[in-house]
Amino acid sequence: MDRWILHVDMDAFFASVEQYRNNPELVGKPVCVGHDPKKGEGRGVVRAVSYEARAFGIRSGMPVSQAYRLCPDAAFVTGEFGNYRVASGEFMDVLADFADGQHVRRASIDEAYIEVTFKVKEYPSVVDLAKDLQSAVKVQTRLPCSVGIAPNMAVAKVATGMNKPMGITLVGQETREIMEFLAPLKVDALNGVGAKTAMRLERFGITILGQIQQMTVAELWPVMGRGSSWLHARACGIDERQLIGNGPWVRKSMSKDRTFMKDVDAENTPLLHHVIAKMCSRIAQKLQKKELKCRTVTVKIRYADYTTIQRSRTIPVSSNDRVTLIRTARDVFDHKRDPHRAIRLLGVKVSNLTEAKEELTLIDFL
Ligand SMILES: [Mg+2]
Repeated sequence: MDRWILHVDMDAFFASVEQYRNNPELVGKPVCVGHDPKKGEGRGVVRAVSYEARAFGIRSGMPVSQAYRLCPDAAFVTGEFGNYRVASGEFMDVLADFADGQHVRRASIDEAYIEVTFKVKEYPSVVDLAKDLQSAVKVQTRLPCSVGIAPNMAVAKVATGMNKPMGITLVGQETREIMEFLAPLKVDALNGVGAKTAMRLERFGITILGQIQQMTVAELWPVMGRGSSWLHARACGIDERQLIGNGPWVRKSMSKDRTFMKDVDAENTPLLHHVIAKMCSRIAQKLQKKELKCRTVTVKIRYADYTTIQRSRTIPVSSNDRVTLIRTARDVFDHKRDPHRAIRLLGVKVSNLTEAKEELTLIDFL
């Protein structure tokens, strides 16, 4: 039987939430979500960009100062993660209505795979199902999304990226169709082929997937070593993975970071300790509100030259206590900082989260 997998990806997710859910006045306007550009003096990066802002050349990950120069009239919104999480939950709920049983696999906050092999029988065609899904997402979450349709996850994911926003891209069931679809695409169109791999392939003169299709695994070996058979299969559109649902989304970590207006001397302990305390207090508050505790505390330090280190410590008993987090984070920082370098960004992350209620404390044993 033909398998049908849909990859569904929200279009410019954070920016769309700002436009269509938080502030309708932003619809049709360039919107950047991220740090305040402070008239071009801000130092953070843009986290998400509406399609209108993309037209000005703004991309996510770009310094806000640069984005501001490209389009000073854009709306720069700090954004609130809680809003995105709620929207994401609603999106996943819609997907669950269209999937076969529990076959929803959330890949990130704004994208997921669903299997519709059986569900498709209720529609004239799989494209009709995708259209219905797209409008259900629009009606129920007010947000735009794009859909890729293929017999497996890897090809569906590539298809989604071909036509955005509000696109639907169908790749057929036939091996020949799938290979022709992939052949002209750049190697990094595949999920799992990053910039490093793409550069390595390019050094061997391989830039598009069609070239890999023409090779044997043995010919690819000198370039990719143990990754050869994986890459060869993916380039030919082969992906044998079963789509296993991963249920409701479970939070894995929580973090805060702070980019300084001006680089800070790493020996300026009072200031840096103060910033760590503030971040830890916010995190502790959030953990308590969500009734969670953490076991691992990670400190991130980015120096003026952009080199970044992250160091973690596991605490003996899970905690959401402010003082414990501050003490742990400061201690990690004090041991790991390089006192001779200036600091550009400081961050704290907590992970290894458990529900506060489940955790037995010493008191429970007394
Ligand atoms: Mg997206």
